Amino acid sequence: MIYVVRMTVSQWGVRVPARQGEETRQALIREGALDASLKLIHDGDSLILPVLEEREGAEWCGFQAHPGRESQPRHELVGGIAIMQDDDPGGAQKLLASRPSLHTVVFAEGEVHGEYRTREFRVLAGIPTTRTQVTEHGFTFAVDLAGAYFSARLSTERQRILAQVHEGEVILDMFAGVGPFAITLAKPASLVVASDLNPKAIELMLENIAQNRAKNILSMLVDARHLDRILPWKFDRIVMNLPLSGTEFLPEAFRLCRPGGTIHFYSLVSAEGMHCARIQELGGTVLSERVVRSYSPGQWHAVYDVRVCG
Ligand code: SAM
Repeated sequence: MIYVVRMTVSQWGVRVPARQGEETRQALIREGALDASLKLIHDGDSLILPVLEEREGAEWCGFQAHPGRESQPRHELVGGIAIMQDDDPGGAQKLLASRPSLHTVVFAEGEVHGEYRTREFRVLAGIPTTRTQVTEHGFTFAVDLAGAYFSARLSTERQRILAQVHEGEVILDMFAGVGPFAITLAKPASLVVASDLNPKAIELMLENIAQNRAKNILSMLVDARHLDRILPWKFDRIVMNLPLSGTEFLPEAFRLCRPGGTIHFYSLVSAEGMHCARIQELGGTVLSERVVRSYSPGQWHAVYDVRVCG
């Protein structure tokens, strides 16, 4: 007689409706957050997906192990590059060998810093580069991790905003980086103005505009502080993705948005409703406040959708 021993492993899990299971699984893989050594749990109409560490809404569950599948070192995927949190060259080699889509594994040597919001990386395995191509919802973005900011974790946010855009809108992306929001929103829009003060970000954005054949994006190398003196338009929608210091630019965004228009304001917060008073003072109504992701204990990235009053 053969006895099959099923080992149960305790791990954090994310519960989602079964119909969102595959979409969530793909998003967790992109983030490098899925614990691929464990099997997911079917629980009525829900699925519970194992994740490598605690996150908002996660529950502590007992999972069955995938026989023969080893747990991978914690990492985040950006196109063909895996970013590891630990300086572990052995783990990096293992990771590189396990995923044919990877060309490079890097270690993030520090935090995102400076005006350009970039980080330093050291290559642990594979081709010595920080450049890669990211495919996201049918778009392809050229990214250079050391040269300009890019986060694959915001792909759901880009789709959430896209679902709100009406045909023919005039949109401003004030802190556009290599252009992922601008390019995603360009299809239904009549015009997207995408500005950034990092020359490398603008160089990659131009490459991305060309490779995605977007014909209605005006790319500008400019400090957002000067936008309302340069631009002749009032915008239907403004994206402000500069979470650490975006508050400083709120008055500028209100001046550039038409009455009845929408501002998507990303910010690092430590309490719910932290910016509501300031938004009301500037003449806005908070339509919603959502958590995008946790940042550190007691701090998270939030997005406020704001209606500018007439
Ligand atoms: N929206 C992009 C994305 O999601 O990938 C990039 C967001 S990143 C958090 C913020 C960007 O704002 C960086 O590319 C940085 O260079 C740019 N930035 C910072 N200060 C700025 C300013 N005063 N004016 C224009 N761009 C600025």
